[in-house]
Amino acid sequence: MDIFEKDKEYIVNSYRRLPIHLTNGKGSLVYDEDGKSYIDLGSGIGVNVFGIADDQWIKAVTSQLNLIQHSSNLYYTDPCVNLAKLLIAKSGMKKVFFCNSGAEANENGIKAVRKYAAQKKGSEYYTIITLLNSFHGRTLTNLAATGQDVFHRLYQPLTPGFIHVPPDDIDALSKAIKEHKVAGFMMECVQGEGGVCPLSLDYVKKAACLCEENDIVLMCDEVQCGNGRTGYYYAFMHYGINPDVVTTAKGVGGGLPLGVCMLGEKLKDIFSYGDVGSTYGGNPVCCAGGVSIMSRIDEALLLDVRKKGSYLFKKLKSLKGIEEVSGLGLMIGFKAKKPTSDIINELMKNGVLVLSAKDKVRILPALNIPMELLEEATEKIIAVCE
Ligand SMILES: *Cc1c(COP(=O)(O)O)cnc(C)c1O
Repeated sequence: MDIFEKDKEYIVNSYRRLPIHLTNGKGSLVYDEDGKSYIDLGSGIGVNVFGIADDQWIKAVTSQLNLIQHSSNLYYTDPCVNLAKLLIAKSGMKKVFFCNSGAEANENGIKAVRKYAAQKKGSEYYTIITLLNSFHGRTLTNLAATGQDVFHRLYQPLTPGFIHVPPDDIDALSKAIKEHKVAGFMMECVQGEGGVCPLSLDYVKKAACLCEENDIVLMCDEVQCGNGRTGYYYAFMHYGINPDVVTTAKGVGGGLPLGVCMLGEKLKDIFSYGDVGSTYGGNPVCCAGGVSIMSRIDEALLLDVRKKGSYLFKKLKSLKGIEEVSGLGLMIGFKAKKPTSDIINELMKNGVLVLSAKDKVRILPALNIPMELLEEATEKIIAVCE
């Protein structure tokens, strides 16, 4: 059996993989078993922030591997506390809880929201408002939070206490706050899986005000849009708001599983002994990698992300074959006249890997993709779309 047949035989049928067997890579280039190269505009769904086999990240991870690979949270280790300090410096949040994925980060964020509201307003205040078209992860609670019905079917009953309102509709949010006993409001500032849709500045600012006025916990899911992806350390900074809870994962680990739930001033002491926990959470190898990633996300890199993002955005926007372009920084989606699956397949044949998000092509390159490669990939996108 070849790898395609083995995969079909042994692995659950949940992924629709492209027919490429990847073996290795360097930076923004990745190679298949025949040695064919691809420009990687997906970076493992926004994970490989500094590309594949990044030297500094490998050094950080392997050095730590040679010291201690895992300790559990019964003891202290350096990488864990060093990464926490760095994340707090970059985000302005006050305390962090480490776990292993985006879904878990959100689960713990939701626990923080519920506990705060239960203590402050009473246990009947458990409703969390989220947005239609959102994506918050695959656990049953995150599916309940996710505002897309396709994810809900067949898995009922989901965790109760979530309602969805349309994005960019402040009246709908205000009405929901009046009609329910609300604990929190949770949003992605830039909806990723929903089609790379940034919320409007005006909406996010007003929503944050409504939360403040009603003592509703404001939670930003920055699993995809965080860690420099949008040209800001965290996307909420583009909007000038101060969330109470920020969750992240994907890019923060640079390729090893790492999730973070960050708490702001209002909720920094919400968890007490035994409230949350994780065997692997704060794993020293993952955190050492995280330190390597986060310490290199600085103002100069962010400026570069914004420049490259605006180059790509403008190029795509000017094409006749493209109907819609959306996004922020190096998180970009576009809808071509041709079907998205055709675009993805043709680009693959021409040596460019991209992602999809609903009916759009989604582009999440490494933040340090060399300009020449970005230009080369852009020319190939232009050729395929026109
Ligand atoms: C990917 C993603 C998640 C889920 O993260 P996992 O690590 O796959 O659990 C949650 N929220 C958003 C916005 C995401 O993009």
